[in-house]
Amino acid sequence: MSLRFFVLTIFPDFFDCFKKYGIVNKALKTGKVQINTINLRDFTEDKHRTVDDVVYGGGPGMLLKPEPIFKAYDYLKTVSQNPFVLITEPWGRKFDQQFAKELSQKEDVVIICGRYEGVDERVKTIVHQEVSIGDFILSGGETAALVIMDSVIRLLPEVLSEEESLKVDSFSDGLLGYPNYTRPAEFRGMKVPEILLSGNHKLISLWRRFQQLKRTYEKRPDLLEKANLSLEDKKMLNYIYKGKDFEDYIKGEKID
Ligand code: SAH
Repeated sequence: MSLRFFVLTIFPDFFDCFKKYGIVNKALKTGKVQINTINLRDFTEDKHRTVDDVVYGGGPGMLLKPEPIFKAYDYLKTVSQNPFVLITEPWGRKFDQQFAKELSQKEDVVIICGRYEGVDERVKTIVHQEVSIGDFILSGGETAALVIMDSVIRLLPEVLSEEESLKVDSFSDGLLGYPNYTRPAEFRGMKVPEILLSGNHKLISLWRRFQQLKRTYEKRPDLLEKANLSLEDKKMLNYIYKGKDFEDYIKGEKID
């Protein structure tokens, strides 16, 4: 089974580049996901293929007209049994890893991309959820759709070659990721932490957990309140709160 995205947009070419690279490209090639762009202009009736119109009541800018969106949706219903319909809106449910997980479990996800001043409000009658990627204003929903699809696709089963890397990603267990290093072991006088070269896997995994907790405490303390913490995590945090480092923890807890 694969996840199918249907993106309703006035700029279908917007997604070409996205489909060409990396994990997304691989997932498309192996059939784990489909990205179908639906050009709203194909569902217009006039010669100029008009998708927008002025705002009732006055005011600046244009709105996406309801007819092409509803017609595109009617077409979609002929190819999808149970589409889950999203619309990009700055006031929508804030997109996050939990939201991405939920979407990764769906079969067909439709993303309606707003443009101009937005869309005619009546479109909301076919929408299950409004989605925002953050408290800022984009010029269109396409960039939001890219963000959403990218994060959902990497959660699909068998998409990442090392599924392990999902588990160590930031947010996957409510904490931020730990710091990583690659070769050389010393670069411009900066050394890779000794422990990582030690080959002591038990110690390395403790060090990484400690660093995850420390980074989360320093950069996103709000996440700690919701995270699922073990007794050991809480012990580590007691050191972190006091400004102590991993070596203090090892000594204090008599770990070798
Ligand atoms: N007039 C609107 C802004 C329109 S921006 C307002 O007052 O808020 C044009 C389109 O870009 C929107 O319709 C929406 O589809 C998309 N968009 C803008 N900011 C977004 C965000 N933070 N998240 C998701 N979509 C966004």
